[in-house]
Amino acid sequence: MSILVTGGAGFIGSHLCRALLAQGEDLIVIDDLSTGTYDNLAELEDSKRLRLIVDNVNNAALVDECVREASAVYHLASAVGVRLIIDQPVRTIESIVGGTESVLKACARYRRPFLLTSTSEVYGKGSKVPFSENDDTVMGATSTRRWSYACAKALDEFLALAHWVESKLPVIVVRLFNTVGPRQTGQYGMVVPGFVKQALNGQPITVYGDGQQSRCFAHVQDVIEALLQLMLCPQARGQVINIGNNQEITILGLAERVKKLTGSSSPIVKIPYDQAYGEGFDDMRRRVPDLSKVHNLIGYQPKRDLDQIIRDVIESQKKGAGGRNAEC
Ligand code: UDP
Repeated sequence: MSILVTGGAGFIGSHLCRALLAQGEDLIVIDDLSTGTYDNLAELEDSKRLRLIVDNVNNAALVDECVREASAVYHLASAVGVRLIIDQPVRTIESIVGGTESVLKACARYRRPFLLTSTSEVYGKGSKVPFSENDDTVMGATSTRRWSYACAKALDEFLALAHWVESKLPVIVVRLFNTVGPRQTGQYGMVVPGFVKQALNGQPITVYGDGQQSRCFAHVQDVIEALLQLMLCPQARGQVINIGNNQEITILGLAERVKKLTGSSSPIVKIPYDQAYGEGFDDMRRRVPDLSKVHNLIGYQPKRDLDQIIRDVIESQKKGAGGRNAEC
């Protein structure tokens, strides 16, 4: 039987597909190529063990057919990136909530293991450090578009966990913290590929706000290894699990690090949030994962540090120069 990866042409999805193919699995990928790209999978399609279906996970009939053929489902299809969420809130909500509902219905029908990639955005504006899976979520006002993403993903989590409670459908919910690596595009707002592109092109590196907000960046390869192990871990079923890296850096510090590692002479400039995202934007000051649960479950420990992450993004963008990655 095949494994179904929704959103398999996206940044994280395509890394997951590579890893699953390397393990000898056959894959079905459903991706509408909205934020994912065919290029992310082009070389894999030649392997004949990957079948790409270009469609949306809201297509319940198609999802039903694919889930029936699959032995397990990684559900990654989702709108991603703060920029996209702010620019296209209707699409964000519909694709996240509707897509997960249709995939979960089919998984429940055929009793297929289901892994949902949720997000650290779900913690919202909480100020606790670090964030643990059972912490309260602190959402902003519904008039602030950013929170539609967190609320939609939280609803996905509720729905997945409800299937576990009601019928013991094997579901695993992972909350991905900022995940970075080769082939990630900065066009939906992600800061690391954005800064690297600016630095390589000699453009100003744009730090939003005062730059004292901080994040923890995980290498996509560390994240993929965790996803693969969690799918096979019986104790992970019915659980919400953080995945990321807990090495924290301010965004200003990140800009300086990118500038150094690229050898760029770009100036670092501060841009007010209103100018970057429009009026009424809420940002999180700190976002650090508590990784003790995933460590206890599968012995997870991030292996790749921030410098390696930045170097890999630099190399990927340099390789892609003139090609797709030129848009990064
Ligand atoms: N950010 C920035 N300059 C950019 C893009 C993002 O200073 O060109 C900031 C953004 O405001 C946030 C942090 O970098 O504080 C991480 O942003 P990203 O969109 O990558 O992820 P998230 O906000 O979801 O953590």
